[in-house]
Amino acid sequence: MREKQSGASAELAKVVERVWSRVPRYRARMESAGVTPKDIRGIEDISSLPFTEKSDLRDSYPTGMLACDRSEVVRFHASSGTTGRPTVVAYTRNDVDLWSEAMSRCLSTAGITKDDVIQVAYGYGLFTGGLGLHYGGERLGASVIPASGGFSERQLLLMKDLGTTVLACTPSYALKLSEMIEAGDLRDSLPLRIGIFGAEPWSEGLRGRLESALGITALDVYGLSEVMGPGVGMECTCKNGLHIDDEFFITEVIDPDTGRVLPDGEEGELVLTTLGKEAMPVIRYRTHDITRRIPGSCACGRKGARIARIKGRTDDMLIIRGVNVFPSQVEVALGRVPGLSHHYYLEVSEMEGLKELTVVPEISETVSEVAMRKLQMETVRGLHSLLGVRVNVRLLEPGAIERSEGKAVRIRRVA
Ligand SMILES: [Zn+2]
Repeated sequence: MREKQSGASAELAKVVERVWSRVPRYRARMESAGVTPKDIRGIEDISSLPFTEKSDLRDSYPTGMLACDRSEVVRFHASSGTTGRPTVVAYTRNDVDLWSEAMSRCLSTAGITKDDVIQVAYGYGLFTGGLGLHYGGERLGASVIPASGGFSERQLLLMKDLGTTVLACTPSYALKLSEMIEAGDLRDSLPLRIGIFGAEPWSEGLRGRLESALGITALDVYGLSEVMGPGVGMECTCKNGLHIDDEFFITEVIDPDTGRVLPDGEEGELVLTTLGKEAMPVIRYRTHDITRRIPGSCACGRKGARIARIKGRTDDMLIIRGVNVFPSQVEVALGRVPGLSHHYYLEVSEMEGLKELTVVPEISETVSEVAMRKLQMETVRGLHSLLGVRVNVRLLEPGAIERSEGKAVRIRRVA
């Protein structure tokens, strides 16, 4: 343990030195915080370093944060910018190697072996999801099917004919596929055993639904392109938090308002520092994802940091009459109401500066008007007791909400 600690400390010192000497923005930020690389002697000194924000990457578009020679870059990815420019991330050959190794370890944490057949139904391309899973799966020695997202009929055909045992995609796309599998009564003809679902927050209720519909163990994977891509965190089969490999990442949870580091167990914003990355290492990157570090060790025996399922993003949080509401909490509440499907969205309107929330779930089968009214009341009550604030509910008929093949759009703003 001591040895590993000093290894991570040495790696931290190395990455700080690297960005100090190669990235003017990091150097300027550190200088104004009064820190130099020689102040970083161990992991405990990390809190003296300034934070990095997504805006740092966006403002230095495309490659202002590059910490290696341009000729060493072997790959670019980019995350879609909802407002203007995308955020570009770069990888050296060693970075691609490190990423593959981190992802491969995540897959083995999930119980996947070289004998598995992994169907990657995350999007391939600029988005890191597809290629991240792909390289990790190959590194592990598993058979990888680069199906990418969409073409659902073909997904099912590939699953059946190539004997897919692992499905990797967003939970909302898994839900769409599971409905098709149920409708076609295909479950027994598919050898699926594990689902690797991520890229959007999801709930225990949806886990239960996917596990029973697909006959699998459904596990949560976490990552973000600014830090690396998928492969940052992975649930083991204990399903008690996501393991983060401390050889590659230093994990902190901070109070998003003050920046103060919070003790284990307290909920706040996840902050990540990469160890070993060359092209675009990040120092204390503010993910804006809400979670907590889980104290104690996992029953599986793995060491290192463990974080709770991501509850949502600080920027997805809605303040409804003074109460903080995350879309993921709505999903949890809806999952407890029998008679609702797992499809829903939230409508947010604003009247005189005050936000109003309408939760719009879909029912799982058509029922009588009386039963519909009862279901409406139960949904309102369930949401009220979990969120602590009363919200509007509008139930939709089965199939009314468009199925997602990637990340589901949960929040719709209405005038
Ligand atoms: Zn574990």
